[in-house]
Amino acid sequence: MSRDQMFIAYMKAFKASTTHIGACTACQNDQPCDAGQPIHADFIARQDAWNERVRAERKQP
Ligand SMILES: [Zn+2]
Repeated sequence: MSRDQMFIAYMKAFKASTTHIGACTACQNDQPCDAGQPIHADFIARQDAWNERVRAERKQP
């Protein structure tokens, strides 16, 4: 996956997650949510992958 694709996927996942929270009282109150769980897990995974990539790039001379 290219850097741009990776960032776009991360931003899409972020938007999906925040959109879900905006419409879901369970997630707003930190309660378990079967619908939201995979959406938030996807966002966290993409965020971690992105942060890892940025960190790896900073190590380059
Ligand atoms: Zn939810």
